[in-house]
Amino acid sequence: MLDIALKVLKEITDHSYKAYIVGGFVRDYLLGIKSKDIDITTNATPKQLKEIFLDSCLPNEDYGSVIVEKNGIRFEITTFRKEVLYDDNRRPVEIKYIDDIHTDLLRRDFIINTICMDNEGEIFDLLDGRLDLENKIIRTVGNAFDKFREDVLRILRAIRFATILDFKLDKEIIDAICENKHLLKNLSYQRKKSELDKIFTSPNRNYGIQLLLDLGLDNELEIPDLKKVLDVDITSSIGVWSILNVTNIYPFNKNEMELIEDINKALLLNNTDPMALYKFGLYVNSVAGEIKGKDIKNITESYNNLMIKSKSDINIDSESIMAILDKAPGKYLKDIYNDIEREILYRRLKNEKKEIENYIIKKYYV
Ligand code: ATP
Ligand code: MG
Repeated sequence: MLDIALKVLKEITDHSYKAYIVGGFVRDYLLGIKSKDIDITTNATPKQLKEIFLDSCLPNEDYGSVIVEKNGIRFEITTFRKEVLYDDNRRPVEIKYIDDIHTDLLRRDFIINTICMDNEGEIFDLLDGRLDLENKIIRTVGNAFDKFREDVLRILRAIRFATILDFKLDKEIIDAICENKHLLKNLSYQRKKSELDKIFTSPNRNYGIQLLLDLGLDNELEIPDLKKVLDVDITSSIGVWSILNVTNIYPFNKNEMELIEDINKALLLNNTDPMALYKFGLYVNSVAGEIKGKDIKNITESYNNLMIKSKSDINIDSESIMAILDKAPGKYLKDIYNDIEREILYRRLKNEKKEIENYIIKKYYV
């Protein structure tokens, strides 16, 4: 990944511009963590970048980041900038392209996100980000109070980085969060959700949740049940959202919505029960089991021991049933299927064609 990134940098510097990798990739590289995408900062303008990378795209003209894909890696290339005048505690109203990287670093959120790497792989650490990495601490670039007022999303980013990296929040950050947390109401639920998702999917989630609770953010984020999450050993973000029970205010996609609904239904069932496992599957029952503090091994074992896992596993088809009963298709087929499904699941009927046929004749042939 690094070699490809250095090549991308070189393509820019070969055109006599300055360019550095910055942010998450350098931070994670120094910590020995794998990154997903790479942020590059440069004095080339988006227009100039588009001339260098002909197949690049500019998803957001206002923000001026150019996206380049190389070998399946996504590069977000942003021109050195100064952001002036923030609106709604979130977006700068005006940005000014500049030629100086130091000023660009000053507009960034946290010191650990300002470390740069040049096209030789050399680290440029103008604000001593490595020191914060060593001390495992999140500090803002400049005054925390101003940073959070400018862009309130940074509050959640601070907690997200602290959670994922297992870092402490600087005292100034903690004070500034307490003073500005009410501004979180100005942030869209989509933004809040995507940061919370990153916190909830971290193996270190309980630390992040404790931070949110200690700072009183459960109230501001309208997740009053957050405390409950600490009482259970949960391994998925969807499990956390099921406990939080906020589908009426936070946006969930169709798949998430269905999962949350199913988990809530499965919570009311015995999750080693064959019918519960058959109906909702292993994943949903495991999440529900986790929420209830049940042994997941038992749930998995019960699932593996199911006689059938779906309708297609039943050793008889509709044609055969119609033939035995000498009847045209109709609603009765569904009732019979439900019946034999239940009988097989509870091991009162073998999943063998002959046996099933006999059962159907005995019970349904008139
Ligand atoms: P990751 O990609 O792992 O989520 P990241 O630090 O790379 O973490 P990005 O959202 O990719 O975060 O942003 C890249 C860099 O841009 C950050 O490291 C930071 O320097 C800067 N940045 C991003 N969002 C903000 C923000 N809201 N305020 C100030 N600087 C920001
Ligand atoms: Mg990034």
